[in-house]
Amino acid sequence: MVSYKDLGLVNTRAMFAKAVKGGYAIPAFNFNNMEQLQAIIKASAETKSPVILQISKGARNYANQTLLRYMAEGAVQYAKELGWRHPQIVLHLDHGDSYELCKSCIQMGFSSVMIDGSSLPYDENVALTKKVVRYAHRYDVTVEAELGVLAGVEDEVSAEESHYTKPEEVIDFVTKTGCDSLAISIGTSHGAYKFKPEQCTRDPKTGKLVPPPLAFDVLKQIEKKLPGFPIVLHGSSSVPQEYVDIINTHGGKLPDAVGIPEEQLRKAAKSAVCKINIDSDSRLAMTAAIRKVFVEKPGEFDPRKYLGPARDEMVKLYKHKIINVLGSDGKAK
Ligand SMILES: [Zn+2]
Repeated sequence: MVSYKDLGLVNTRAMFAKAVKGGYAIPAFNFNNMEQLQAIIKASAETKSPVILQISKGARNYANQTLLRYMAEGAVQYAKELGWRHPQIVLHLDHGDSYELCKSCIQMGFSSVMIDGSSLPYDENVALTKKVVRYAHRYDVTVEAELGVLAGVEDEVSAEESHYTKPEEVIDFVTKTGCDSLAISIGTSHGAYKFKPEQCTRDPKTGKLVPPPLAFDVLKQIEKKLPGFPIVLHGSSSVPQEYVDIINTHGGKLPDAVGIPEEQLRKAAKSAVCKINIDSDSRLAMTAAIRKVFVEKPGEFDPRKYLGPARDEMVKLYKHKIINVLGSDGKAK
């Protein structure tokens, strides 16, 4: 058993309480390779932003759980090397789908886990979440749960249709399970194709798709039922069109990729939403930068010459999110 405290990591409790009060949100960035992790830590250290490093089950299978665990430990030391005196870094399991997986992550040094029982019937979701919370709290590990279903595809998580979180269920759910934060469904979606073209309107000037707005009325009702309780938004990439355009003009094929407009996320960050998950945007930044090198310098075959620019592009993206969308810069000096 490795405690996250010995690795220099923190859980989400104090971080979320401050964020809810302060009207900003903590970035939760997924990683599964060294360049992504370097970019996340560099951007967080340079902006002094608390940060959540997320590992999905797919990432764990891709990169090896032991290696990822040591990478997170290394990330804390790297942050200090970059001059961040008191790094506030959480290591979080994204979309845990079983008690056993959550338990194993907690034993490996994760400071926070998500148990996603959102596809189960309500009572089973309650029972599973409760069981994970009971185990996690023994080690002061915080637990994110989910109510409602997000559409879209992300690693092993996928659903055809979304179902908004029912505000009338949230008090009962949070009380019965004892979870520390709640992921809700108000119209965000996983992946780079968050909406079908027929769900969107088209901007008459640019011809680009404009997605439907988030259900802020549902968020408001949930906030009223659970004053000050930390709320989480998944599937909150904005799918920057400049990356999609670079990809499409450099041999890629991402027709009609569309995300959540940043002004909507900015608005959400000011509410009880205190954790915003961003994964697809960094995948797009990385892919766009790599494709550009491959087309412009076809003779290049040193991975550092295309992963390096990809890493630089991700640092730029993460800093932009932290400063201009979530408002978490300067909150972890
Ligand atoms: Zn998610």
